[in-house]
Amino acid sequence: MIVILKKNPNPEQVQGFISWLEGKGISVHKSIGVNETVFGLVGDTASLDIGLIAALDIVEDVKRIVEPYKDANRKFHPEDTVIPVGNTQIGGGTLTIMAGPCSVESEEQLVGIAKAVKASGATMLRGGAFKPRTSPYSFQGLGEVGIQYLVTAKQETGLPIVTELMEISQIPLFKDVDVIQIGARNMQNFDLLKAVGRLDKPILLKRGMSATYEELLMSAEYIMSQGNHNVILCERGIRTFETYTRNTLDLTCVPVLRKLTHLPIIIDPSHATGRYFLVPPMALAAVASGADGLEIEVHQDPQHAWSDGGQSLRPDKFDKLAGMLMTMHQFVQTQPIREWE
Ligand code: PEP
Ligand code: MN
Repeated sequence: MIVILKKNPNPEQVQGFISWLEGKGISVHKSIGVNETVFGLVGDTASLDIGLIAALDIVEDVKRIVEPYKDANRKFHPEDTVIPVGNTQIGGGTLTIMAGPCSVESEEQLVGIAKAVKASGATMLRGGAFKPRTSPYSFQGLGEVGIQYLVTAKQETGLPIVTELMEISQIPLFKDVDVIQIGARNMQNFDLLKAVGRLDKPILLKRGMSATYEELLMSAEYIMSQGNHNVILCERGIRTFETYTRNTLDLTCVPVLRKLTHLPIIIDPSHATGRYFLVPPMALAAVASGADGLEIEVHQDPQHAWSDGGQSLRPDKFDKLAGMLMTMHQFVQTQPIREWE
């Protein structure tokens, strides 16, 4: 962190500032010029409140030169993180395809979709049992029974399961869940992040609809700082001025996050677009941009789906898309797309 002092700062305040920093284990490298005095702060500056320093009488400006996230930072962990899940893995050159309904509706519905998406090449089954709905009058999810159906579908197909956790008290119900999803609306539910940080399960962390990359990575840091380093990032569309689509898919996140972090990156084109016909082109673009995988909503009968039918693919369309995604992935694997920098 670099701190630029105002001209002719009060020497007592400067000394007080230095002592305060040293008390926090930070060493201060001083560069005293005729017009400007610059302090280079060395040590664990992640815990320093940049706003507090900027507000000091003697301070002209302050800049971070190292990002405030450490565990998620590629600078301190150059190798890509690869996360084993069941007999598959996320990251490390594989293509993860999580597919399934928005909501778990019945055992028959879920097992039927699970078998279909598995046959098409999906590597994991998604399905919401606890649903974060905008309206309290919309279907809220089957809850615990929904988790039981997911476990049944896993037993019948061998597909690992990913499903959303909405609050800490639900954690005991998730013991047979392979990947816990933290939804966009809970990306900054810090107590929930800390709680899943103490679990021994991979966490799929969805980007909040108005969260910056740094905020997403700070949320990943919350989980990792508690000991759980198996975090997967998921872009699911952000809020912009555009109203045609449900959200705006920010695919730029793939190369940006790739540079900033070693964590795997998954794209959810279903929630990002909100319209089924936009899902295949965006899914293909995601793989072309180097994403590690996708989360896609699939339903046998989208018109009668209990949630998000308009953005769900029928199994036959998903089957066609999955084949194209695998071809695109093979192509990307042979291309040096990470060498543009
Ligand atoms: C979901 O995946 O079911 C979901 C609710 O997603 P998001 O948190 O991205 O809205
Ligand atoms: Mn949904």
